[in-house]
Amino acid sequence: MATDIGIDLGTANIIITMGGKGIVLNEPSVISYNKKKDEVVAVGKDAYKMIGRTPDYIVTVRPLSEGVISDHNMTQSMIKEFILKVSKKNLVMPRIILCVPSFITDVESRAVIEAALSAGARKVFLIDEPIAAMLGAGIDISKPEGNMVVDIGGGTTDVAVVSLNGVVKSASIKVAGNKLDAAIIKYITNTYQILIGEKTAEKAKIQVADVFRPSGERKLIIKGRHLIKGLPQELEISDLDMFAALKENVYSIISAVKDVLEQTPPELAGDIIRNGITLTGGGALLNGLDKLISEETGVPVKVADDPLGCVARGTGKAFDLIDVLRDGFECVSMYKYR
Ligand code: ADP
Ligand code: MG
Repeated sequence: MATDIGIDLGTANIIITMGGKGIVLNEPSVISYNKKKDEVVAVGKDAYKMIGRTPDYIVTVRPLSEGVISDHNMTQSMIKEFILKVSKKNLVMPRIILCVPSFITDVESRAVIEAALSAGARKVFLIDEPIAAMLGAGIDISKPEGNMVVDIGGGTTDVAVVSLNGVVKSASIKVAGNKLDAAIIKYITNTYQILIGEKTAEKAKIQVADVFRPSGERKLIIKGRHLIKGLPQELEISDLDMFAALKENVYSIISAVKDVLEQTPPELAGDIIRNGITLTGGGALLNGLDKLISEETGVPVKVADDPLGCVARGTGKAFDLIDVLRDGFECVSMYKYR
């Protein structure tokens, strides 16, 4: 059976949808590679477990993590492995719609397309991330009407205004989930002289942060290593700590949103005030962020349902719209490679 595959190649997570089945794979964008044998050891969840725990000749990386492609070949191998993982039982080669991060260059996206073709894809399409995010959030983008989406992922925050299936204005900044985690680590180090790991920082962000009205009531005990004593230590932190740690980066995100709003033609801006701003990506779940953006911009803000899955679901939906999205918009929204 021929099956269409939609892929959200995120900096933190790769999510794949297949035909009518919806999301069939959701794993971290990580690859583990044996340099001696020149072969892939593991991808996704299995590779994630190996981070920091491999011998020298095995490298475990997030090839897309910080808003750059740190390794071309790793990215290519990773994608190929994931496609093979979901499609191996299918006899007929699938069509694939790929959504790649906005910072990817043309050369890099060609490498990604080559990877999909070498995994057996019959046809490969690329879709702009904001278009996929909006389709996944259930927004009708076909009308001559402005909608704004803010996708906050691991490596980048992408802000876009879409009308008539096309991106009208957009901006991408390298301030997103990873930067927030790094800011928490820096703040805890400077304030309490305790060094915490990335996973602990992410946990604190998810469990205690309140970037709208922190009251000191949300608390969590975290573990780290005291920088002077050198020994493990526990520390109680609150949403006030999180606010102090995250404030600067959160306001960078808000500035990016305001910039795009300011550049938006007035008719579309008027539509956005009426339709509201939609938040997608994992960062959309940062507690209080929706309310803060709304307060700062004066525009209503809503978090999409299942914000982490929006882009992937959007790639799935895009198959039905290939002709529409391509007619007149092939350059921006979607184009055929072969
Ligand atoms: P990408 O598309 O770049 O792969 P995702 O949309 O999958 O990124 O989002 C991953 C980011 O979302 C990570 O930085 C993660 O820490 C963050 N995240 C996930 N859940 C939450 C939450 N509840 N609150 C704040 N951030 C979250
Ligand atoms: Mg994403």
